Amino acid sequence: MKTGRKLFIISGPSGTGKGTLISRVLKRLDDVVISISATTRKERAGEKPRLDYYFLSEEEFNEKIRKNEFLEWANVHSNRYGTIRDVVRDHLRSGNDVILELDVQGALSVRKKVPNSILVFIKPPSSAELKKRLMKRKTETEEDIELRLKIAKDEIEFANKYDYIIINDDLNRATEELLKIIKQEKRGKTTTIL
Ligand code: ADP
Repeated sequence: MKTGRKLFIISGPSGTGKGTLISRVLKRLDDVVISISATTRKERAGEKPRLDYYFLSEEEFNEKIRKNEFLEWANVHSNRYGTIRDVVRDHLRSGNDVILELDVQGALSVRKKVPNSILVFIKPPSSAELKKRLMKRKTETEEDIELRLKIAKDEIEFANKYDYIIINDDLNRATEELLKIIKQEKRGKTTTIL
């Protein structure tokens, strides 16, 4: 039975475990890909262009805004992030379901354009645990961590607009929950068209 292609949008505070969960479910699913975002932020050590992000200069990013090439874009933590429409479209056209990892503003603005996209919010078990995870990751300064924790509080307010909320307490349990949601939604026949 041929089913339609779906667009999954995953959000949650920085450090809540989105990247970890997504990479775990991708290993266990066929025909599901993560669509890479564009950003003006600096590459972190170990990141690879076109694998983690499309790293763009401020000028390149502005050019794409002008040409209306983004499905959504936003300023987050003083950098710009955006989803290039053609990147997502190509994945869907080649028969894959697509996962987008987006901040709350981005997720809600894509949902307006693509009403049958599926929104999943990943919540940390507590703000103390979120802080611990951000510190463990060692990619942000202490000041940055405080900023991210403040933003997390605002983001969590939007969780009730999502189709599913997963609390990432135990990693194995949360992975199974996300996997189950994706498999279940994949069975639906509606195709996402961009
Ligand atoms: P995000 O992509 O949401 O910013 P990451 O996937 O980078 O978050 O995870 C942040 C940190 O928390 C990482 O060090 C990761 O290994 C850890 N982590 C993720 N999920 C869990 C979990 N359920 N329990 C404990 N630590 C976790």
